[in-house]
Amino acid sequence: MFWNKKKKDKGKGPKANLGLMIAELFGKTPSLDTFYNELEEMLITGDMGGSVAMGIVDELRERIMKDKIKDKETILKELRAIISGNLKTIRILPDHDKLNVFLVLGVNGVGKTTTIAKLAQYYKKQEGVKILFSAGDTFRAAAIDQLKIQGERTGNRVIAQKHGSDPGAVIYDSIASAKSHGEELILADTAGRMHNKSNLVNELKKIDKIVNSNLNGGQYRKILILDATTGQNGLQQAEVFNEAVHVDCIILTKYDATARGGLIVAINRKLNIPVAFVGHGEGLDDLSEFSPENYLDDLLALE
Ligand code: GDP
Repeated sequence: MFWNKKKKDKGKGPKANLGLMIAELFGKTPSLDTFYNELEEMLITGDMGGSVAMGIVDELRERIMKDKIKDKETILKELRAIISGNLKTIRILPDHDKLNVFLVLGVNGVGKTTTIAKLAQYYKKQEGVKILFSAGDTFRAAAIDQLKIQGERTGNRVIAQKHGSDPGAVIYDSIASAKSHGEELILADTAGRMHNKSNLVNELKKIDKIVNSNLNGGQYRKILILDATTGQNGLQQAEVFNEAVHVDCIILTKYDATARGGLIVAINRKLNIPVAFVGHGEGLDDLSEFSPENYLDDLLALE
């Protein structure tokens, strides 16, 4: 488990420990008002974004006033309760004896291909399902090649067409092929050209329609990949993808590479999308189920 591993390896995971920073703040702030302002700054710096940080601090202020709280342990406990009220997780598992399509969404470079390989490894180990990769990012030749490489590396068949072909046709072929070859789970890559938003949205809507009309009772999930190092940009990406196809869950990648982790809080509070997994390295096993409790321990620990 990532969280345990992280404890041994201090180099991994979010390093900005809000708990410690808040404890320090207590030592030097002359008034509660200064404390609230500085706490808000801290939350913004930690990638929670302005409105979310303000909402959290307002709630905290109310609780502190109402219960006349003065000591930092209780304040931290209240802060933890406020943040945890919005943290959601979900287990995404393939249904057995059915065809499952997990559509993997996200802008270029967030770690889609790497995460597809990690998910394949995870589901093979945990569930023993047969998996097919679908190379739906036909816009970039390199994306097709990369998925083929990951397919070889993880021992999974890949359905791909040539560069520039219709991604709708790729997913259609993949579903037909999995049905005839007996794969139970399709992990489908998609294009992520964020700068061409209307094309991206139209393409995703088309793919969504094809999956819905060809799956015949199987499980269909839309998984958005977000890069933890992109901060508030991640929130905007989530808004766009969610509007296009209604995202079921998020996988946050590169958690090992950031000192912050507040994006999860922002997304949960603003968009109400649960986080399923966290990616914390480039290796195939560097993927863990998201645990709100462990996340909060990391974020607010006093050591
Ligand atoms: P894609 O364009 O979305 O398919 O992104 P890739 O899967 O090609 O990943 C982009 C880069 O991010 C690659 O160098 C990956 O090795 C790296 N990467 C992906 N996930 C993680 C992660 O959890 N931690 C770290 N440190 N790097 C990652």
